[in-house]
Amino acid sequence: MNAPHSPLPVTFADVQAAAKRLAGVAHRTPVLTSRTADALTGAQLFFKCENLQRMGAFKFRGAYNALSRFTPAQRAGGAIAYSSGNHAQGVALSAKLLGMKAVIVMPQDAPSLKIAATREYGAEVVLYDRRRESREAIGRSIAAERGMTLVPPFDHADVIAGQGTAALELLEDTGPLDALVVCVGGAGLISGCALAAERLAPACHVIGVEPEAGNDVQRSLASGERVMIELPETIADGAQTQQVGELTFPIVRALVDEIATVTDAQLVRTMRFFAERMKLVVEPTGCLAAAAVLERVLPLAGRRVGVILSGGNIDAERYARLLLEYAETR
Ligand SMILES: *Cc1c(COP(=O)(O)O)cnc(C)c1O
Repeated sequence: MNAPHSPLPVTFADVQAAAKRLAGVAHRTPVLTSRTADALTGAQLFFKCENLQRMGAFKFRGAYNALSRFTPAQRAGGAIAYSSGNHAQGVALSAKLLGMKAVIVMPQDAPSLKIAATREYGAEVVLYDRRRESREAIGRSIAAERGMTLVPPFDHADVIAGQGTAALELLEDTGPLDALVVCVGGAGLISGCALAAERLAPACHVIGVEPEAGNDVQRSLASGERVMIELPETIADGAQTQQVGELTFPIVRALVDEIATVTDAQLVRTMRFFAERMKLVVEPTGCLAAAAVLERVLPLAGRRVGVILSGGNIDAERYARLLLEYAETR
């Protein structure tokens, strides 16, 4: 448990309000257990399966919560987002459900499944080169030209509150936990989840997990400032953020106890574990939290631990290739 903190930009009441908006719209995803996983770690593990959420990731929660709070004028203009994938699909599906237009700015090298799914939800996709162009600048200029409202992937109060409903549901289902392990990109998910845990399970340790190649949040916590890093090379494409958010950083500082990191090889072994043992398709980024637990990066024996599986969107070809490359080098 952390020391008392000054008022944060998002509150537990915001998470509860988001849960009301999402009721009957988002799936209440299952919480699965595995004797094999428990035996491997000596812990009692509860996996919150956001890979089974609508559009395949928790991002639907934050996007729908944000769009459903638009004013009538904002609804008329529509939503614009920049995203490497899951946030794009979350905004596209939410816009469709709420009867709005959506423009999504995506990198040219985003997984093809994510680009195709975004188009199938009825959004207009604008592609850019992530090594040469700034998605923020492209997003801002289209928003201004067309009168659309930009919905950022993590640094937005309504997005953070929406993401927190994943932990709210998990804790409602499991009761108090000793630890909650959550993957971290820009830290929207863990910020919302930490707000839920602070209220519903005050003794619960909140632990974030980043790719080893992109540990900007870990470094930011150590230095006390939002560290900016080079675009990380990792298979966890949903966690290739270069800097933690302005809103998410103070929440992480106040409510997150620790940040761990895992390697790409650990992510692939974890993907394989879910495929073979639990019959779950989890994308590399979605395995971050679970990899830290199952690969025993975090010592959690004897503890009741919640683990968020954040998403399951991966092309069949890429999925097969990752598992096969691993099998060949094992
Ligand atoms: C976006 C995303 C993350 C990271 O979430 P943040 O809110 O940016 O920390 C993790 N996993 C998946 C599957 C994602 O799509």
